Amino acid sequence: MAEPIRAACVIGWPVEHSRSPLIHNYWLKHYGIAGDYRREAVAPEAFAAFVADLPAQGYVGANVTLPHKEAALAASEPDDRARAVGAANTLWLADGHLHSTNTDVEGFTANLDAALPDWENGRDEAVVLGAGGSAQAVVYGLIERQIPVIHVVNRTQERAEALRARFGPAVQPAHWGALPHLLSRAEILVNTTSLGMTGQPPLALDLAPIRRDALVADLVYAPLKTALLVSAEARGLATADGLGMLLYQAVRGFQLWFGIRPEVTAELRAAIEADLGREGE
Ligand code: NDP
Repeated sequence: MAEPIRAACVIGWPVEHSRSPLIHNYWLKHYGIAGDYRREAVAPEAFAAFVADLPAQGYVGANVTLPHKEAALAASEPDDRARAVGAANTLWLADGHLHSTNTDVEGFTANLDAALPDWENGRDEAVVLGAGGSAQAVVYGLIERQIPVIHVVNRTQERAEALRARFGPAVQPAHWGALPHLLSRAEILVNTTSLGMTGQPPLALDLAPIRRDALVADLVYAPLKTALLVSAEARGLATADGLGMLLYQAVRGFQLWFGIRPEVTAELRAAIEADLGREGE
């Protein structure tokens, strides 16, 4: 009897919007691996039972997206990153145990590495807009790269305070009104809010005070070129877009499930860009 093909999936609720199948199936084809990567719409109340026996569902591992990232942590043996961030987005089986990690962290930092090698050198202050799920991974990534001061600007102050409680005094909660001053100091600006995303309110931010050596990253990838990135590029600043982070965060899961460390190439990027473009039509 033929071996069943190796398969992984992305588990979400809803899950139709996820680009992960496009990315992983591109790599499976590119590397000639007989595998599959699917979407699984799983309601919150059914999540724990679903991941308790992934092989019975036909999977060697999975990505986890909203709203399951915290439940995934509880249902698995998390590595240091997932535990520190408080959320897991990648699950895999090893030695009969379900392990987890958070690859949004390396997705964020690897994307900056690709945009501007050694970006962390000489950069001492960052401004992070937002304090939601993705901000946790971004703040952890900045701390890993030893950025000493991270100003977290969020509409809801308690969430910024919670990040300080989780990650320590490098995190400095601040109000939106402090941005002109903070932008004049910080060498890194990251938008982790959903502002500027298709269907969401715009990100109203005047970059006039920003430093000329600042690096600007936006996690939003629909649209690909956000108003923030357009404005930063017009000032000649280095930028990193949300699609890059999405692609780099997928690398480790693929390696864990299918045994090859895949490359983020211009051809892969173009394929996902074309898909994002189709949605925008
Ligand atoms: P969350 O829902 O966890 O957080 C949303 C954040 O946006 C909060 O800080 C929230 O502030 C803020 N926000 C939302 N609406 C407003 C508003 N009207 N005014 C001010 N602030 C607002 O979302 P995530 O962190 O998971 O995702 C955020 C964005 O990042 C999304 O666009 C998502 O697609 C993108 N993303 C991209 C990834 C990538 O790989 N490129 C990975 C993960 C996310 P408050 O706390 O006050 O509500």
